[in-house]
Amino acid sequence: GLMVIDVDRFREINQTLGHAAGDELLRQIAGRFSGSLCATDILGRLGGDVFAVLLPELADIRHTRAIARRIAETLISPLRADGQDVFATVCIGVALYPQDGKSPHELVSNARVALRQAKCEGRNSCVFYSMEMHSDIRDRLFLEIDLHNAILRNEFTLYYQPKANCADGRIIGAEALIRWRHPLRGLVPPDQFIPMLEDTGLIVQVGRWVLEAACQQARAWQEAGYDLPSISVNLSIRQLQSETLVRDVATVLAETGLNPACLDLEITESMLMQNAGMAIATLGALKELGLTISLDDFGTGYSSLAYLKRFPLDAVKVDRSFVQDITADSDDASITRAVITMAHNLKLKVVAEGVETSAQMNALRSLGCQLGQGYLWSPAVPAHDLLATIAG
Ligand code: C2E
Ligand code: MG
Ligand code: MG
Repeated sequence: GLMVIDVDRFREINQTLGHAAGDELLRQIAGRFSGSLCATDILGRLGGDVFAVLLPELADIRHTRAIARRIAETLISPLRADGQDVFATVCIGVALYPQDGKSPHELVSNARVALRQAKCEGRNSCVFYSMEMHSDIRDRLFLEIDLHNAILRNEFTLYYQPKANCADGRIIGAEALIRWRHPLRGLVPPDQFIPMLEDTGLIVQVGRWVLEAACQQARAWQEAGYDLPSISVNLSIRQLQSETLVRDVATVLAETGLNPACLDLEITESMLMQNAGMAIATLGALKELGLTISLDDFGTGYSSLAYLKRFPLDAVKVDRSFVQDITADSDDASITRAVITMAHNLKLKVVAEGVETSAQMNALRSLGCQLGQGYLWSPAVPAHDLLATIAG
């Protein structure tokens, strides 16, 4: 048997703690792994944060699983680097001789295929190779090629979804949501390609386009005399980490002539948690440009409420999952009430996401939430369709 083991999010660890600490962690991880193996097993490093274990004497699949579990469990107690505790997890891909490959090359390559699948399933996963994985990977590969072409062929487009005042239905802003007009697949929703844009780094380029197109559109609506107080644009983690973000935003604002106060940037909790110090600095610099910042999908991450006040935020968007059952589930109602109260105490606006029924809207209003977004008012629509709603 052959296991290929990749440390989750090692690049971030390296970026945050520095390369010396990263090297030290790799040494500690190697030590933990080797302590969990038998004398006949062979541990090696394939490069970077990727290790491999050759298991010449495997009894059966169950035995293999047990070994994989033992390897993963060596990382339960924290590692130490740079005076800090660091928690690491790994993904493992497994290929077995002879069914998964007859040559060493084929075995390693197929274990890597399984590893890739494990990575897709999230941190701390272990996956055994199977033949079907190749077609998944081929699909992904084609989609990735298409994605490069999409940029060249201008296949991206923006839809807009209004944000409304719950009390009178007045439109207080709109969120720009990217769509991909794929020549064969039709309109592709963002969750099917944003992760790939992030993996490949293309998100920085596409994100800049989104920002520019949305600001241009908002400016055009305002010039045409429509009252659209604010336009929201989603940022991805890669953009937040990009050194050029603040300059890019400033440039777009200057070039489109949009009043900075009319631009709202949406970020998620997990983006803040990944490198809080850097996020605070970047958000501060963005806010100095005069724009506003909203915390998207609030409630789905793990940030403590106390943490929130460290960030220069203007609004939180309560995640759709809390709004969905607000009329039926009293737990959701109390969480939502707590979030609204807390946000108001921190002088933040609260926007409820995914409001679909007037019953939900009424429940939200009774909890003190004044702003909402959702199918109740309108789904995300092409620019000219939103006009009907604003003009409405
Ligand atoms: P998000 O920013 O939380 O956007 C809200 C999503 O909820 C949108 O899905 C919207 O169409 C959907 N939605 C709105 N109201 C309702 C409702 O009443 N019921 C239901 N069931 N759904 C509703 P969409 O457009 O598929 O976007 C998904 C996610 O993709 C967004 O979540 C955002 O995280 C990401 N995304 C979209 N555009 C961009 C972009 O330009 N850049 C980046 N980085 N991410 C984007
Ligand atoms: Mg959003
Ligand atoms: Mg959201």
